[in-house]
Amino acid sequence: MGIQIKNVSKSFGSVKVLKDISVDIKSGELIALLGPSGSGKTTLLRILAGLEGLDEGTILFDGEDITNVSPKERKIGFVFQHYALFRHMNVFENVAYGLKVRPRKTRPSKKEIERKVNELLSLVKLENFQDRYPSQLSGGQRQRVALARALAVEPKVLLLDEPFGALDAKVRKELRRWLRQLHNEFHVTSIFVTHDQEEALDVADRIIVMNNGKIEQIGTPDEVYENPKSPFVYDFLGNVN
Ligand code: ADP
Repeated sequence: MGIQIKNVSKSFGSVKVLKDISVDIKSGELIALLGPSGSGKTTLLRILAGLEGLDEGTILFDGEDITNVSPKERKIGFVFQHYALFRHMNVFENVAYGLKVRPRKTRPSKKEIERKVNELLSLVKLENFQDRYPSQLSGGQRQRVALARALAVEPKVLLLDEPFGALDAKVRKELRRWLRQLHNEFHVTSIFVTHDQEEALDVADRIIVMNNGKIEQIGTPDEVYENPKSPFVYDFLGNVN
């Protein structure tokens, strides 16, 4: 699904955290929202999810104005930094959750749910882990379960808020490779927030560089790295080894 963000502004009290943000995201793109802490990345992601209201502007999904549509009706999968798995449910139940709570009309049968969950668990390479509880998994495994759970409801858009932020460097590297592979298979329009330049350059189709509530530059990794449009982008991307 294509996403158009048009002239979005947002303040908390007297502080303007998003200042006239406009961007077009094509269907199937994997986008990194990159910037330092406090630049407005999470707020923009929450606005796209419908978890946060906006003061001005419009959000279109495939040309349709969804600015006032509830989060539930936006067909979005969400993955947070701190894998919000249900602790009292095992891996199978966690991934199946979104399917089981559907309204009766659209709820798949028990057999279909089983098939779907097994398919997703093999996709995230956790097919032998379905009976485990979150406390029995490593951080990277939990985050893979969170991704499988987000994909179970066949979202049109996948929003990831610092998905690998809490993990150590080696696991982060593995997971971002794997996110890229997964994206190549699923083609779900995906936006992930990161403050890690290397992660954005390594994984994204295009990078949106944010600073102080504004977009500094939008471009492919090569474009923003080779041809930074402002001193900020130059400095922010310049210290990648
Ligand atoms: P980032 O994700 O880039 O770190 P955020 O979108 O989380 O940035 O925050 C942008 C700014 O908005 C920060 O100054 C932050 O303190 C402020 N902010 C975020 N959420 C709230 C809120 N619910 N109430 C007040 N201020 C907030």
